[in-house]
Amino acid sequence: MYGAEFETFTQDAFGVSTILRRADGSTMTARAEYMVGCDGGASRVRKALGVSLRGEGNLLQLRQALYRCDELFDRLPIGDGPGHGRHYHIADNQSSFLIMQDSTRHWTLHAVVEDDAAMAAQFEKVIGTPVKYEMLYVGEWKQNLLLADRYAEGRVFLAGDAAHLVIPTGGLGMNTGVGDAIDISWKLAATLNGWGGPKLLQSYEVERRQVGDRNIGASRYASNGRRRWRSQWTPGFNDDTAYGQQLRANLAEVADIEQRKTNEMIGAEVGYRYVDSPLIWDEPGGPEHLFRTYDPTAWTGVRLPHSWVHENVSINDLIGRTYAILRMGRNVASVDHIVNEFRRLGAPITVLDFPEDRYRELYKCNYFLVRPDLHIAWRSNSLPAEAGKLAALATGHAVDNMSRYHAAQYPTQPPKSLAS
Ligand SMILES: Cc1cc2nc3c(=O)[nH]c(=O)nc-3n(C[C@H](O)[C@H](O)[C@H](O)COP(=O)(O)OP(=O)(O)OC[C@H]3O[C@@H](n4cnc5c(N)ncnc54)[C@H](O)[C@@H]3O)c2cc1C
Repeated sequence: MYGAEFETFTQDAFGVSTILRRADGSTMTARAEYMVGCDGGASRVRKALGVSLRGEGNLLQLRQALYRCDELFDRLPIGDGPGHGRHYHIADNQSSFLIMQDSTRHWTLHAVVEDDAAMAAQFEKVIGTPVKYEMLYVGEWKQNLLLADRYAEGRVFLAGDAAHLVIPTGGLGMNTGVGDAIDISWKLAATLNGWGGPKLLQSYEVERRQVGDRNIGASRYASNGRRRWRSQWTPGFNDDTAYGQQLRANLAEVADIEQRKTNEMIGAEVGYRYVDSPLIWDEPGGPEHLFRTYDPTAWTGVRLPHSWVHENVSINDLIGRTYAILRMGRNVASVDHIVNEFRRLGAPITVLDFPEDRYRELYKCNYFLVRPDLHIAWRSNSLPAEAGKLAALATGHAVDNMSRYHAAQYPTQPPKSLAS
């Protein structure tokens, strides 16, 4: 509810009741079948669930300030015009870091300082030349590497910073949260539309918590890189002496290796693979999780790698909102029996054909089952003998229980298409 603050909630077998406080202080109750707590690092939903964060907390306390400074961009002595950078790391003992925002008139500075007021002097010190500016905002933030013990309890789920906190170095916080949102949203839609089986919602924690965990590791690696070159700073660094010159040269050499680590995160961003998911056909082995490089593979659990189908149309653009069976190459058979099993469950499915040899060569299999979120649920060179088993698995209806999860936590309802 826009403008109302979440206070607390209760849940029962049929839904979740939340107490919200309006701006005028009055309260109201809202009722829903499910709730997702995406209320940030200090998440009240997480606390109300009794879920703990584990890992390394409060590693560094910084202040962030926002400034308006119209003249700074044109006066930057580094680069030329559009060649000016957006991010400037200052070699000091205060972790100072200046970022150009939006239209080049707004700037944020992060630094370790005593109090809010000190952020004005810090801006002037970092810029090093008189400029007209206005400080619009100052706030405090902490560096954390923390992961929630659980991502779900009954009908309530956690997503985004409520479930995982990374250090911004590496830029993984928001995209990990967006990945959570995509995963939980299609599973909730499938459940509310009546065709999602109970394992669909159970799989949210299995699939997304491992990504949160791996991305925290990637963020630790990236921020250690930054810490390493920053540790080269020492008094005398800015001195106009041979010693000062030597210190600066040493730091530049270390930074040339270590700073790169903070930006090379493509494997973490697009190469992640869901392992041991109850929705994905078990295919033993699989490529290693490499967060700095992306080597496209069509292994089960990964996002279907991109390839161009027409000008400006990716294979990924053809899939969405439904499951898709992809037939690659010329030697393929009818998949009607698989389609019928999905239809029997009420799950939407389409069949897409890619007869040209290049697709078979690129993706290295004849058949793929891709989920609405583009992750590969199954692949093979031959059709499954038990198409019903594959459909049940991918839609969360498989009957074998996951030992780690308490199936009774999640209400089991037959899909609407089978009820009555
Ligand atoms: C300095 C800094 C730089 C960053 N840089 C990057 C980057 O380059 N790339 C990247 O991917 N990520 C970056 N991040 C991380 C990114 O900002 C977060 O991961 C992301 O904002 C998390 O989104 P969220 O929606 O989960 O939580 P939030 O953005 O924290 O949103 C939570 C929302 O819930 C609301 N809320 C909280 N409590 C209640 C309540 N009780 N009732 C109602 N509403 C409530 C809040 O008002 C807020 O609107 C950075 C973070 C910081 C601090």
